[in-house]
Amino acid sequence: MGVKVCKFGGTSLADTNQIAKVKAIVEADDERRYIVASAPGKRDPKDQKITDLFYLCHEHARNDLPFDEVFALIEQRYNQIITDLGIDLDLSPQLAKTKADLAGGASKEYAASRGEFLNGPIIAAVLGYAFIDAAEIVQFDKHGRLLRDQTHEATRARLAEVDRAVIPGFYGSGPDGEIRTFSRGGSDITGAIVAAGVNADVYENWTDVSGLLMADPRVIDRPKPIDSVTYKELRELAYMGASVLHDEAIFPVRQASIPVNIRNTNLPDDPGTMILPDAAPIAHQGTITGIAGRKDFTVIALSKALMNAEVGFGRRVLGVLEANGVSFEHMPSGIDTMSVVVEDDQLNGNEEKIIEAIKAECEPDTIDLYPDMALIATVGRGMARTPGMAAKLFNALGAAGVNIRMIDQGSSEINIIVGVNMHEFETAMRAIYDAFVN
Ligand code: ASP
Repeated sequence: MGVKVCKFGGTSLADTNQIAKVKAIVEADDERRYIVASAPGKRDPKDQKITDLFYLCHEHARNDLPFDEVFALIEQRYNQIITDLGIDLDLSPQLAKTKADLAGGASKEYAASRGEFLNGPIIAAVLGYAFIDAAEIVQFDKHGRLLRDQTHEATRARLAEVDRAVIPGFYGSGPDGEIRTFSRGGSDITGAIVAAGVNADVYENWTDVSGLLMADPRVIDRPKPIDSVTYKELRELAYMGASVLHDEAIFPVRQASIPVNIRNTNLPDDPGTMILPDAAPIAHQGTITGIAGRKDFTVIALSKALMNAEVGFGRRVLGVLEANGVSFEHMPSGIDTMSVVVEDDQLNGNEEKIIEAIKAECEPDTIDLYPDMALIATVGRGMARTPGMAAKLFNALGAAGVNIRMIDQGSSEINIIVGVNMHEFETAMRAIYDAFVN
């Protein structure tokens, strides 16, 4: 029998109604054998996530303030869920221990992890699956970094002993057994670890949207969903601002070539988005996968006669950036010109200092700073080795009256990045979307 690992996010487990959907989803496919559960999330936009309530308890305890009221909210939520589901489970000993631990100075990460720790047994009871504490399998070093190999081995060995299990997401244990967590949203990582550990056929990540969209819905009206994307494309889109899976969550499954399927708990019939290994065949040549963009970049533009023949010019420019702790994003160049694109945050108000240092080190004929730039990446494996894709992109921008300030095509030909003035960002995004999608 095949194996599917399903991670359910906080909104999928926010209340009894949602948990009933989860149960139906798991029961609909016998291969859904390992379930990674988040803590109950928001039931409506004004609601509180259980994890946030735990952070609040910790903050109170740290300042020697009573936290009974906040803790009572947590207790009520779990007890309500248990009662409404009609399951035979008494969480009061664990709740009492958690409260005592918090009062006794337990760490912030311990506090944060309890949302998942307490929810796991509920979901296990609902499904009739075993509960396995993530602290047994997910291991961190003393700096809180995931010990990948040990975790993989522990997960593989422990889960081989159980046919079906629920594992809480988001946390694990450190060298002395203390609880450590991933960064926020980290249950995605646990899901990927479990998927790799049981060598799953697919890692289903169940959330409240039907997969990834081809563009930011705040800019493009009702963008189409992406049906499949490779890890490499996803990395390009995520880097350019598309919000997708937790970055580190890609790693374990990518390494094991396990596809990820982003699904919607509220619309379980939607196929969602498949994230595939990089070698996956291309369904549609000549198409794009998605568009993503980011604002707030500055271009440092340099020119110098005979720059092309000057050995070490580029190195010296980059050396100045390095000496100032600035990382750069792109470096398009001409014969006697060179531009370096940097994020405004990186410059951090040090523009003048950096310009003076470049002048001293490299003696350019001109050096200009162009702030207020935006970068837009058009990404798609269907673009590679297809003539006319760049022309289509530039024509679309030209027709929309957008001035292209910078062009960069990745060597893999799966992306073309253009730099435009920030005030033309939205116009540019729409022009590209319309040209390729509509
Ligand atoms: N419950 C944690 C959070 O709110 C982790 C997660 O849901 O993935 O960030």
